[in-house]
Amino acid sequence: MSKRDYYETLGVPRGASPEELKSAFRRLARQYHPDVNKEPDAEERFKELNEAYAVLSDEQKRAAYDRFGHAGVDGMGGMPDFTNVDLGDIFEELFGFGFGGRRSAQARNAPRRGADLQYNLALEFEEAVFGVEKEIEFPRDEVCSRCSGEGAEPGTSKTSCATCGGRGEVRQNRQTFFGNMVQVTTCPDCRGSGEIISTPCQQCSGRGLERKTIKRKVDIPAGVDSGTQVRLGAEGQPGINGGPQGDLYIAIRVREHKYFHRREDDILLDLDVNVAQATLGAEVEVPTVDGPAILSIPAGVQPGKVLRMRGKGVPHLRGGGRGDQLVMVDVSIPRKLNAEQRKLFEELAATMGTEVQPKESGWLDKLREALGG
Ligand SMILES: [Zn+2]
Ligand SMILES: [Zn+2]
Repeated sequence: MSKRDYYETLGVPRGASPEELKSAFRRLARQYHPDVNKEPDAEERFKELNEAYAVLSDEQKRAAYDRFGHAGVDGMGGMPDFTNVDLGDIFEELFGFGFGGRRSAQARNAPRRGADLQYNLALEFEEAVFGVEKEIEFPRDEVCSRCSGEGAEPGTSKTSCATCGGRGEVRQNRQTFFGNMVQVTTCPDCRGSGEIISTPCQQCSGRGLERKTIKRKVDIPAGVDSGTQVRLGAEGQPGINGGPQGDLYIAIRVREHKYFHRREDDILLDLDVNVAQATLGAEVEVPTVDGPAILSIPAGVQPGKVLRMRGKGVPHLRGGGRGDQLVMVDVSIPRKLNAEQRKLFEELAATMGTEVQPKESGWLDKLREALGG
């Protein structure tokens, strides 16, 4: 017996779009469904429709069929391969339910890891640099102490769910194109657990968990920065069905400092020196995270010069050693002078002449740099 052309079976032209195929299939499937159509060849016709649609709705199989005809798809499973046909939405449209979306009772009762928790912790600049011990408080579920997580009041016990017979799911038979289909859904009465708590625990109302405020001392290591996460293992939500506990992540945010800025493990400091210090050089006292320290300003230092104070930065979070403190020197020009200073500057001015010198690189270059050009 020679097979009919699939396009002919579905009554569509060879160039039919997927939507046209689908609507043709839907229309004919309704017409020839063996439950509806009692003519002797209806079932045969219905199988043909399924096969034709299974092939033509699959892009690859359709291409093979277009080139080689039935021979092209026989080896690829020309018989209906329902796993590759998008029947889900057709069923949903016709019957109002789909295939997906349920978990087996076994999967529901399998041990699962508890959820991770996050705690946001703000630190002062120095605390992040040197590390600190902090006491934190956070809410977390604990296994109920009264019922040990069972959910049932002590002395009572859970009973097998009568609705689902303890299976956690209910089955319904439905008539479909392909015969009798079993629709399985989560049991609405026990929500899939298969058990009913007739006398809920007074402390947790049957949840098996109670909300508690947890206090912990946390060692924040030296060298953390905004964005660093410190993990406390097994301090998250309790596991489900005996699964492992989740973790607690402490998310660090470091507050701004009045003077210091971080660039990874270096500390940046802006420093104003006066015109005499810049000209003659000087030993000056500057703040560092370790306290005041002496910095040598070389004679003739120019504004914008960066001086490095080795080892005065942030301890490396991993491995030993510390970053540096980088001091950017600016020169402050006096806005007010007393009589003596004025006299001295005038004497100085007389020795320095009146010439001015055009600069080769100046603010135009700086502007270009700033604009990234
Ligand atoms: Zn309880
Ligand atoms: Zn049930």
